[in-house]
Amino acid sequence: MKTLNLVFLGPPGAGKGTQAQRISEKLGLKRITPGDILRKEVEKGTRLGKEVAGYMEKGELVPDEMVLEIIGEELERVGQGFILDGFPRTVAQAKGLDRILESKKWLLHAVVFLDVPDDEIVKRLSARRVCPSCGAVYNMITSPPRNNETCDRCGAHLVRRGDDESETIRKRLEVYTKETAPLIDYYEKKGLLVRIDGARSLDEVTSLIEKALEGLNWNEQERGPTKPFG
Ligand code: AMP
Repeated sequence: MKTLNLVFLGPPGAGKGTQAQRISEKLGLKRITPGDILRKEVEKGTRLGKEVAGYMEKGELVPDEMVLEIIGEELERVGQGFILDGFPRTVAQAKGLDRILESKKWLLHAVVFLDVPDDEIVKRLSARRVCPSCGAVYNMITSPPRNNETCDRCGAHLVRRGDDESETIRKRLEVYTKETAPLIDYYEKKGLLVRIDGARSLDEVTSLIEKALEGLNWNEQERGPTKPFG
């Protein structure tokens, strides 16, 4: 299969991170995750980290220019063959991405949209636990650790992500509906959207995505799928 440049889109808790990680490993793509990059900056207490911490704690989006700058640098660093996981999240970011790709003469091949209903999202985010030591992610309902709330990999006690508290979850969903959901239409109009039923089990979703990417019909300019999957 040719090198793919992909975006993974979906509400918080849709399984974007997990699926992006699996697909990036299977297809040898590099994963670019602004949420992880920003959290590291906050932890390290850098100037950028201090600027963005407040937005992140409240479940609000970090300003477009800051995220676009990070993404521009990351794309420069990793080159083609990538999955953007958690970006773009606004139409302005999507337009910014179009400009960056155009200037490099790179194509976006598909936007994988993980479709999960709201009530399922709230249930999943409330059950999410992360390992503060090695970064492993669990879900107490769908993929619990073997031992209570202890990390399978390194034995640390699992915690909730700060922005997975119920008030912040509601805020993040609101922000998603208002700012990010319009991107479904944006990419559908460009003929790039690949819609996947994200409410299925982790393994089923992974194989749906794999099949969809294998089954894409490329037109002669290789500008993206000519036929949506499913
Ligand atoms: P995530 O881990 O993707 O859920 O991101 C966690 C937080 O980081 C979000 O709630 C935002 O505050 C910030 N963030 C991540 N990606 C973006 C983005 N593309 N645009 C703006 N803010 C972002």
